[in-house]
Amino acid sequence: MSIVVQGVTKLYGEQKALDNVSFEIKTGEIVGFLGPNGAGKSTMMKIITGFIPPTSGNVFVNGIETSGGSLEIKKKIGYLPENNPLYPEMYIREYLQFAASLYKSDIPVKKQIDNIIEVTGLAPEQRKKIGSLSKGYRQRVGLAQALIHNPDVLILDEATTGLDPNQIIEIRNLIRDAGKQKTVMLSTHIMQEVEAICNRVIIIDKGVIVADEEKKDIYSKIHQSRQVIFVEFGSDIDEVSLRSIPNVDSLKKSKGNSWLIESSADQDIRPAIFDFAVRKNLTVLSLQKKENNLEEVFRILTKG
Ligand code: ADP
Ligand code: MG
Repeated sequence: MSIVVQGVTKLYGEQKALDNVSFEIKTGEIVGFLGPNGAGKSTMMKIITGFIPPTSGNVFVNGIETSGGSLEIKKKIGYLPENNPLYPEMYIREYLQFAASLYKSDIPVKKQIDNIIEVTGLAPEQRKKIGSLSKGYRQRVGLAQALIHNPDVLILDEATTGLDPNQIIEIRNLIRDAGKQKTVMLSTHIMQEVEAICNRVIIIDKGVIVADEEKKDIYSKIHQSRQVIFVEFGSDIDEVSLRSIPNVDSLKKSKGNSWLIESSADQDIRPAIFDFAVRKNLTVLSLQKKENNLEEVFRILTKG
């Protein structure tokens, strides 16, 4: 089931939260929606799920416009809002029954609930009140309500924020499993989350899409424009001499006689570093190009 976003702009009064945003997500993709705080992630997700209307532009889920708010389309979408709003006084089963009742499904409610409690690993806590659950279990309840009607599209807004490392791994596994049969869009400001779960990443900054790539392509995109070389010499060398290597933008001394050298040259600068070492009678103990990680890509694309 596809998501098509066409030229969506959202104004909150004078404030432009989204500025002519367009992208498409195809069936079976798990897309990471990455951006700093205030970038417009939650706003975009609320518009996709039909909770708020865009100021202009359109969103279609499987060809149906979501701003109409039809039950037909709500049945297709599971949504975990940011901060996972729950009713602390409700029991888990009671809450899931309430969630299930919002979508008039053909499957008996008890069966749906039993199944989702199993899938989300809520079984050991299922008789408890939501208010007495740990943050990790509360997040499972949030996911359970998003999945209760077996939607084809899953929209998860910061699903792992505030969880401890073990809980994060468990929730990511749940998302990955759910993603096997669904189209998933998850927002996060944690790069590792995208690395761990997604096959595509859309980066948004100040309401504008700044990157939309397959995960494997986004690294090479940045890689060409900037390289970081780690070099370890056999003896001491001063920074001024190192500056004589062509195309060096910046230098940082690391442990011992090792340096991090940054360059924005098109060609690999390692041969030039090697030539330099030969000229200066230096031994090169190590010479490595550092792979860019997504965190760096994110920083480069959203800085300023
Ligand atoms: P993100 O989820 O990426 O942190 P949001 O979509 O929540 O970003 O917010 C995008 C921008 O819109 C921010 O500048 C935020 O302050 C503003 N904003 C969000 N919701 C509202 C609202 N209901 N009223 C006014 N401004 C809002
Ligand atoms: Mg948000």
